[in-house]
Amino acid sequence: MTRDTQIFDLINQERARQTKGIELIASENFVSDQVMEAMGSVMTNKYAEGYPGKRYYGGCQIVDQSETIAIERAKQLFGACWANVQPHSGAQANLSVFFACLKPGDTFMGLDLNHGGHLSHGSPVNISGTYFRQVSYGVKEETGTVDYDMMEEVAMREKPRLIVGGASAYSREWDWARMRKIADEIGAILMADIAHPAGLIATGELANAVKFCHIVTTTTHKTLRGPRGGMIMMGEDFENPFGIKTPKGATKMMSAVLDSAVFPGIQGGPLEHVIAAKAVAFGEALTPAYHEYIKQVRKNAATMAQEFMNRGYKVISGGTDNHLMLIDLRPKFPELTGKVAENTLVRADITINKNMVPFDSRSAFQTSGVRIGTPAITTRGLKEDAMPEIVGMIDAILCDVENESLIESTRKKVNDMMQDRPLFAW
Ligand SMILES: *Cc1c(COP(=O)(O)O)cnc(C)c1O
Repeated sequence: MTRDTQIFDLINQERARQTKGIELIASENFVSDQVMEAMGSVMTNKYAEGYPGKRYYGGCQIVDQSETIAIERAKQLFGACWANVQPHSGAQANLSVFFACLKPGDTFMGLDLNHGGHLSHGSPVNISGTYFRQVSYGVKEETGTVDYDMMEEVAMREKPRLIVGGASAYSREWDWARMRKIADEIGAILMADIAHPAGLIATGELANAVKFCHIVTTTTHKTLRGPRGGMIMMGEDFENPFGIKTPKGATKMMSAVLDSAVFPGIQGGPLEHVIAAKAVAFGEALTPAYHEYIKQVRKNAATMAQEFMNRGYKVISGGTDNHLMLIDLRPKFPELTGKVAENTLVRADITINKNMVPFDSRSAFQTSGVRIGTPAITTRGLKEDAMPEIVGMIDAILCDVENESLIESTRKKVNDMMQDRPLFAW
């Protein structure tokens, strides 16, 4: 067979792009060679609809073992009693929970999408916002932190069946205990979506949502540094007390309801090569080296946020507890949109993403903010002493977005700084 040089040439170009740039997209990371090796393995050839020991296909005796190891490691990592590692992505994990817990038209509550919530938490362009009715809570304008009083008020008034915590652009710790109290008051199911801070939670750097919430969903490719995918967990496998209708009656254990919601509910065959890679990544995340990595991610983020504030930027909530920060560009640059900031920085090989800030005056296509995260550059081996220089380069460009020679000289500086570093330095 002739080699597909067209595609492999593009893969090489993508490797070069990743290698020479400063990657600050908060949801991205670089996986280890062994995670990639598992993903690119013969496990991709296997059909395994069903779950370990209960498959619809023969020949699953090996993938049964690797999927079981992935489940056991996930449980150990988060102190969960049950896990489903089959969701193809974070959005699929969320949709599975919605499918299990809600009927079309049911009300659920999540963080306002304009305040950092995720598309899969009720956006009108996502199934969650069209098949179900979303009500939302927000952050307080003065502090940029979640308004739990508002959450309680909306919960009491709207009686959502499901309350969703977690976000894509929120830099602070969540009060899971308070959320559980609110959920219990109205008999709602509490779901945490820890897609972003999963790695910080797994290492005990942030409060463990699994201890407080009925159901926890996550991605495996953000701070967790595994293959692109999703997962669902529970701290306790409770007998379904919410009257959720299942084909076999309402007393089914919640784990069984969720398993059926993933498959055959919304997915077909699991990606056993990705599940094997999830197992490898979970194994890595259980090591002291990973905990050191996560501590460095936080240190880098805190240093970077402080440096931005020193230079007169408005960091939403005045800092960060986790791996990311959200910056409102308006106080420093009333005319500069997040879109222009993103496009200009990308030309200097610094990758960030535009992001709406709470109470934004611009649309999602323009935005007044940018989101910046440190998981990826920390995997490249950068420590806190490199952060002021990076912030300095970003600041210089944003102060002078039409200065072509500055963009060009910064790009050279960025490439010099990065191109001899391995993608995965741990
Ligand atoms: C990234 C993210 C997701 C979705 O993950 P995909 O794998 O892209 O589907 C879901 N929820 C939150 C809060 C996220 O940040």
